[in-house]
Amino acid sequence: MTEKTIFELSRPGRIGIRYPEPDVPLADLPEKFLRKDLPLVEMSENEVVRHFTKISQLNHAVDTGFYPLGSCTMKYNPKINEETARLPGFSQIHPLQPVETVQGALGLMYETQQWLAEISGFDAVTLQPAAGAQGELTGVFIIRAYHNSRGDSKRIKMLVPDSAHGTNPASSAMSGMTIIEIPSDKNGNIDTERVKAECDDTLAGLMITNPNTLGLFDENIVEACQLVHNSGGLVYGDGANMNALLGIYRPAEVGIDVMHFNLHKTFSTPHGGGGPGSGPVGVTKELAEFLPDPVVAMISEGDEETPAFYDLVTPEKTIGRVKSFHGHFGVVVKAFTYLISLGKNGLLDASTSAVLNANYIQALIKDVYHIPYERLCMHEFVTEAQWDDAPGIRALDISKRLIDFGFHPPTNYFPLIVHEALMIEPTETEAKETLDAFADALLQIADEAKNDPEILHNAPTNAPFGRLDEVKAAKELILKTQLPENYGKELS
Ligand SMILES: *Cc1c(COP(=O)(O)O)cnc(C)c1O
Repeated sequence: MTEKTIFELSRPGRIGIRYPEPDVPLADLPEKFLRKDLPLVEMSENEVVRHFTKISQLNHAVDTGFYPLGSCTMKYNPKINEETARLPGFSQIHPLQPVETVQGALGLMYETQQWLAEISGFDAVTLQPAAGAQGELTGVFIIRAYHNSRGDSKRIKMLVPDSAHGTNPASSAMSGMTIIEIPSDKNGNIDTERVKAECDDTLAGLMITNPNTLGLFDENIVEACQLVHNSGGLVYGDGANMNALLGIYRPAEVGIDVMHFNLHKTFSTPHGGGGPGSGPVGVTKELAEFLPDPVVAMISEGDEETPAFYDLVTPEKTIGRVKSFHGHFGVVVKAFTYLISLGKNGLLDASTSAVLNANYIQALIKDVYHIPYERLCMHEFVTEAQWDDAPGIRALDISKRLIDFGFHPPTNYFPLIVHEALMIEPTETEAKETLDAFADALLQIADEAKNDPEILHNAPTNAPFGRLDEVKAAKELILKTQLPENYGKELS
């Protein structure tokens, strides 16, 4: 890494901005607020622009290359989403304004609730949770509140499959539940015999992801939901993988009672380094009264003369607020833009293409990469990236080598039930040429693993950083630009 820090580029006396003549008397800056250890950088405007443009290009991003990070749905984020989120009517309002003055924003939230309800089959939706994990926490709070409201407070057991995302057991445990891990059967579905064995009057519910994190549609979903319902429990659906199912399958219709969406996955709002997420939660009619406070309601429908009127209402037995104000409103505007620009048929196309693209890559590499559960996959699939004739090569080596080809690595070592897992999710927004190039790279890397493993051990060789010391990077995380020693000493 040879890029200079901005402090090393600074030279005394250079300026990048000219201030207008002041129209107030000049005064000294208040000394006590000035940090002498933090000198101002002195640079010209073009040096600043070049510096930041250069370092922005060191990052891999959806806008610069293929990003098959499984379970994260790193699809392209259409730029029109950004434009609408920046419209002053959405970006310059305040959550404490009287509702009469923000009818457009409330209408947009209401419509988004309606779209999500239609897509999932649920009766009511909250937009408040900040991300998927907080949606899970909200959902488990709702399940707990439901049981308690019926005087059924001994229900504290939550069943979680062994393929689940780590946030599932975490959010259940944070809600005071006891987690029971349920194994997957030999086809990668939930083991219903094991579910049955846990069905008693202490069962609060089951948390199930469908398609699961193996990228497989759970063929036992209906039976598992029935078993749980028959013993008085509720089913939480982890909807992070809804990208495979838009317009095809409605979770509420198979027996899911409460589910979160990840707007920042399925509905194309940026995430990762790109900004905050949003994890709306949908519920059945029976659970609507427990939703977080407030939800947006349409008070009067309106007609040709008068527009509809929206208000914020408190569900009768609400679990309370889970996030300040109305959640991440800007993200909701982006997702709404995506929903209405694709429309019903566009969403169906998106899911169909996402599933097709994943199956296409799986078919291209499956003779070389072992697929532990070889079935038609949904929007992603998992391979076990190791070979008997390539000892010493791990999934991590393959991922690092992919960086040399200009690709973001897939998800590594997840789900935990597959050894040396690589979880590949191409998304619907990639062209066939990109999918072909990625599969070719994987095949070439498999060949190198067997014939020239040093290439993999040394990769990446054409990235700004080579192999990082992962333990040191995690234990001694440095997130601030380091000032060069002596820098600015002469100024103080
Ligand atoms: C991403 C993901 C989550 C968590 O969602 P966040 O928005 O990252 O909090 C939960 N479950 C699955 C299967 C996921 O892929």
